[in-house]
Amino acid sequence: MTIQRRVLLQAGAGLLTGAALLPYGLHQARAAAPFRNDVPPAWYRFRFGEYEATIISDGRLPLGKPEPAFPASPPIEIVSLLRDNFLPPDAATLEQNALVLNTGRQLILFDTGMGESMGADSRMFGPTTGRLLANMRASGIQPEQIDLVVLSHAHSDHCWALVDANGKKNFPNAQVAVSEADLRYWTDDGNKRGPAFMTTFIDGAKKNLSAYRDRMVMVRDGGEVAPGITAISAPGHTVGHTCYSITSAGQTMVYTGDLAHHHVLLLQRPLWEFSFDTDPKQSAQTRSRMLDRLANDKHLVLSYHFPWPGLGHVVRSGSAYEWAAEPMDLTG
Ligand SMILES: [Zn+2]
Repeated sequence: MTIQRRVLLQAGAGLLTGAALLPYGLHQARAAAPFRNDVPPAWYRFRFGEYEATIISDGRLPLGKPEPAFPASPPIEIVSLLRDNFLPPDAATLEQNALVLNTGRQLILFDTGMGESMGADSRMFGPTTGRLLANMRASGIQPEQIDLVVLSHAHSDHCWALVDANGKKNFPNAQVAVSEADLRYWTDDGNKRGPAFMTTFIDGAKKNLSAYRDRMVMVRDGGEVAPGITAISAPGHTVGHTCYSITSAGQTMVYTGDLAHHHVLLLQRPLWEFSFDTDPKQSAQTRSRMLDRLANDKHLVLSYHFPWPGLGHVVRSGSAYEWAAEPMDLTG
């Protein structure tokens, strides 16, 4: 045995002996640090082709009991699918993964999160949403730097952080790209009918979108909102819901917005209907068609509500699909 090894062994034995001799109360005192109950700023940065992408969390969005969110689906099947995938069967949680793309010429934000523009209604899903601006600043990006906000659709969790509680622009130098169908639908008081949330959603969309009325870009199916960024009309969840294909240096990533809200339930059962869909049957058909396309093309997918940070691939599994999450690289 070398001297160094013997010294180490002796030191180790001493530590053990010392620990064993400590009075019980001292052990307890050493371990009694308070729980911090806080979370780190949530952003994730990676290179995509010639672009730099930063996914920014708006925080978790708890849906609560899953059955009401899938009203046409057998409750027993909802529970067993969640259990089989190690998810709590009595509480569904969605993430909110927004994207900032630095193309070298522009900083483009895809969806804004819930924000604080609508007072108590901005917390309709609880206190964990509305973190996008803080997380964006923590990532080193200032809201004033955003040149273009691209919206998948005009729901609360995607456009309500365009303005603050006073109606002031959070992104004062940005244009806003949205489908004409969604802009018309969600700013029309005539659509305040049906589910109770419709009135709140329309009031919120009007407040947020009207602040940018002279800086609007209308998105059309197949049209480019910026070089290499193409709109793919995916209606159903809302009348003008849109996915975006982002291509750089031969790589393509598809920002799917709310094509599917749950990575298990709506990939394994793509034809299930979701309670916040404007047209649930059209939404299911669109989802099926798009998932088929994504599985065939094998493109990288960024899904707004899937587990953080929402990056992965759609994999065919029998007559349905599974989600293959992309490993995160946090070490550079
Ligand atoms: Zn959403």
